[in-house]
Amino acid sequence: MVSLSPERTVAELRELQELTGDEHGAQRVAWTETWERARRWLREKIVPTGAEEEIDEAGNQWFTLPGASERALLLGGHIDSVPNGGWLDGCLNVLAAVEVLRRIAEEGTPPLTVRLVNWADEEGARFGRSLFGSSAAAGSMSDQEELRERRDADGIALPDALREHGVDLDRALEARSRLENAVAYLELHIEQGPVLESLDLPLGVVLGTFGVERHQITFRGQAAHAGSTPMDKRRDALAGAAKLELELREIAERVGGGAVCTMGGVVTKPGIVTSVVETAECLLDQRHLDAVQLAEMLSNAEAASRRFAHEEGIEVEWERIWSIEPIPFDERLIELAEESIREIAGSSHRLPSGPLHDAAEAARAGIPTVMLFVQSLRGLSHTKLEDTKEEHLELSVHALDRLATKALEAFA
Ligand SMILES: [Zn+2]
Repeated sequence: MVSLSPERTVAELRELQELTGDEHGAQRVAWTETWERARRWLREKIVPTGAEEEIDEAGNQWFTLPGASERALLLGGHIDSVPNGGWLDGCLNVLAAVEVLRRIAEEGTPPLTVRLVNWADEEGARFGRSLFGSSAAAGSMSDQEELRERRDADGIALPDALREHGVDLDRALEARSRLENAVAYLELHIEQGPVLESLDLPLGVVLGTFGVERHQITFRGQAAHAGSTPMDKRRDALAGAAKLELELREIAERVGGGAVCTMGGVVTKPGIVTSVVETAECLLDQRHLDAVQLAEMLSNAEAASRRFAHEEGIEVEWERIWSIEPIPFDERLIELAEESIREIAGSSHRLPSGPLHDAAEAARAGIPTVMLFVQSLRGLSHTKLEDTKEEHLELSVHALDRLATKALEAFA
């Protein structure tokens, strides 16, 4: 009798937490002994399915169940966590995929090869470089020179830490060969935000990951005595920053479609109580799923900043800190994911992902990709308070399984 057992997934998540967590939360930081313990534990769970294990050049852990065709359906996740992390982020993806793999293996030879990948170092918790394994496999890793110089908090260099786990940074990009036969990539993840909970829905389909524009904006006025400078004679840099911060709400609302804008910091100088602010350095983060609308948000914010600078008799300067294009997921898989969720949970919701995920790297590599989100309680993640109702976890395993079945049919 073929059977999917989502209850087993929940039990295994608890077992993993017991094995690799403590009273502060999950401690499976990549490139540590605890992480290796989790990987060994995973191997023992998967061996009985008959899937074969391989570690690629970037440290990614692959389990392959051969199918009638060498073309492969990929199920992915990451077993690494942040320090003091939650019990679901990343490992739900992996353990739900294990359950799906078991079900498929029980049914005999699948039409496509099915491969489960446990990506190495999604979180970047030790060296500050997220999506390590997936970006190597996708071929988008281009910062190897910089990675060579990275050190952890104890001064250990990244290449040395990797070598202890059998990974040679110079060869990491050879992991690309593992994606050659991939026809589709599926990933389940906790939402890590409040949207599904606010809609009272267990599951949603992810449309893609946000594009991001990060800028430093500097307003420059004139420092002047707080007592002797009349209000109408001031060139107050903070006034420009304050007006822009409030205008961001309008800009995000006007563009819509899930747009978010955040002024994450403002540093004022001289920053004393007896002076008008001379410079206000602002950090702006803007995100959207659509590249055109993201560009529009950026130009709206620039225009507003110039308008406010003019009104306040101050100057403004923009400098880009970092940006990434939106990464849309595959239309056909989005449809299949939505069907799967409707069949399992009644109704579905489409939403973008604010955080990047390994799935974004798979999509960047040109593999048709989709993600499922399951509700997060209170929207919390990267803390031991991270949680999801057990019944929702179980529904999420059913939904991933249904989606895998549909993908095997659609891509065979
Ligand atoms: Zn994650």
